[in-house]
Amino acid sequence: MSSPPSEVQTGAALDVLRRVFGYDAFRDGQQEIIEHVIAGHDALVLMPTGGGKSLCYQIPALVRRGVGVVISPLIALMQDQVDALRALGVRAGFINSTQDFEERRLVEAQFVAGELDLLYLAPERLRLPATVELLDRGTISLFAIDEAHCVSQWGHDFRPDYLLLSGLHERWPDVPRIALTATATPATRAEIAARLDLERARHFVHSFDRPNIQYRIEPKTDPKKQLLTLLRTEHAGDAGIVYCLSRNSVEKTAEFLTANGIEALPYHAGLDAATRAANQARFLREDGLVMVATIAFGMGIDKPDVRFVAHLDLPKSVEGYYQETGRAGRDGLPSTAWLAYGLQDVVNLRKLIDASEGDEAHRRRLTAHLDAMLALCETVDCRRVRLLDYFGESAEPCGNCDTCLSPPQSWDGTIAAQKILSAVVRLDRERRQKFGAGHIIDILLGRKTAKVIQFDHDALTVFGVGAELREAEWRGVVRQLLAQGLLAVESSYGALVLTDRSADVLRGQRKVMLRREPERPAKSKGSAKPGRKTSPAADLPEEAVPLFERLRAWRAATAKEQGVPAYVIFHDATLREIATVRPSSLAELSRVSGVGENKLAKYGEQVLATVADHGSDQGGADQPPPEDDIDW
Ligand code: ADP
Ligand code: ZN
Repeated sequence: MSSPPSEVQTGAALDVLRRVFGYDAFRDGQQEIIEHVIAGHDALVLMPTGGGKSLCYQIPALVRRGVGVVISPLIALMQDQVDALRALGVRAGFINSTQDFEERRLVEAQFVAGELDLLYLAPERLRLPATVELLDRGTISLFAIDEAHCVSQWGHDFRPDYLLLSGLHERWPDVPRIALTATATPATRAEIAARLDLERARHFVHSFDRPNIQYRIEPKTDPKKQLLTLLRTEHAGDAGIVYCLSRNSVEKTAEFLTANGIEALPYHAGLDAATRAANQARFLREDGLVMVATIAFGMGIDKPDVRFVAHLDLPKSVEGYYQETGRAGRDGLPSTAWLAYGLQDVVNLRKLIDASEGDEAHRRRLTAHLDAMLALCETVDCRRVRLLDYFGESAEPCGNCDTCLSPPQSWDGTIAAQKILSAVVRLDRERRQKFGAGHIIDILLGRKTAKVIQFDHDALTVFGVGAELREAEWRGVVRQLLAQGLLAVESSYGALVLTDRSADVLRGQRKVMLRREPERPAKSKGSAKPGRKTSPAADLPEEAVPLFERLRAWRAATAKEQGVPAYVIFHDATLREIATVRPSSLAELSRVSGVGENKLAKYGEQVLATVADHGSDQGGADQPPPEDDIDW
């Protein structure tokens, strides 16, 4: 049995936090977890993106004897993760398939000699007996299992290699394990614990709330234009991610943004590995780029200053949505999660589910995920309350989502629903043929389209009975009936069909409450500060902005020179603080959050010079102007 942490160890953790990372204090929850692991116990940590999970294993690895082994699926990011640690003066290395033999040999030798603090490893390496033998030759301080939800089949990122991790405990019973994830419903969490044999481990469940992210979901009308408006009015010059369902729409959207003067890069699994790596590297390294991507992009991307995540298509699950939107605002500054969704999304995703491989149970699971996502889209309640509820957490209305900022009205849509459902019944009965939403809406609106005439649908009793609603409103009704399971889409061409529950509505035994479609999609008009612009410099005192921009330029040049992402040098938050306090000595600079010993030694003089230069360019606000500059 390990003993509880001694005061010496607790002091050691805080000392490492201050000295190495340059932070004053632990965030909520970190200290408990860190002490627990330092004492040699297992832990399952659920914390939202940006919550500060990395420190929970990095600090114990630095305090405990031996090398901390971090299992991560994110091969493409290991180099950056290791660079970021080295910039702090931490001895870190990785072993994965991107290395040549010599590089790997070197890291292996360092591991065996105990010359590393942290070793990053891809899970598939554990398949190789050589890896296991290597691990046996060194001293391991802990195993950190990052992105632990990858072990769960119920979740959305299942990686078969993660199943290998169940063996860690048997092979190295004395080494503490800490599994971490930013996404876990109660079901996923139970599965993680079971598969990793962490049921008896202590579970640290942190609030999943991301208060700095503003959630907005609006009906899709002209998605590209809606996106452009969002970027131009609220996120000019900001870095962000735009998610699309298909590779084709990724390409088209990236082209569209570029043509409209917004620098955007595509990312999807159909691009060759070199292009993907290059685009990812640019996104991480340069300021203010937009990445247009499929969900192949993003896991583990710890770029702290992603200011918006936009979805142009409906995500397949709430877990996926939360994970993807969670990539915004890791630095805690205001950020936007925006989603445009429409009827066609529902049709497309249902089709994908019908066509998916796997058994009936698998399809039922996918359907359950989609239904939960639809319910989130159509809710008249606070989005955050619904999201957190999904993760088993209760919350109060947040004041920072679209439904809180401009509350939608709900209305009794029973009669409208009956009209649609009876049109579906009529068409089904008379023609033994099924039709999609567009045609049914044409009938309700009394439009004599070619198709209506061809099938004599202007003779139906339901023809023209729906003039009280506009087309967009009818589409909204159909979408919401789908979301509520009162209507379904049949495979392949999106035909509408009844469900078990439709009959109750038709018989008038069930009231249908619907969300009122806004005249125009709600912009952040109700936002706390109208016209708020969440650029990196937003909320800075005006006089600090020029210095902040100068520091960013210095950072960009330095990052480029060293071939590392800008945030590896300093985060925006750190530069903001420097621009505000204008330190004039190394001692003052060292008190800024995010300036640890190593960075102080490496960049301190340059930062002070940048601050001082700026001061003199400004004519030194505090100093009197030189005499020859004054007109007497
Ligand atoms: P996660 O892995 O949970 O998404 P990270 O470990 O990347 O989050 O941390 C998110 C950000 O918060 C990082 O920029 C990190 O440096 C910063 N951070 C973590 N812990 C602290 C702390 N105690 N004080 C200040 N900043 C912190
Ligand atoms: Zn809200």
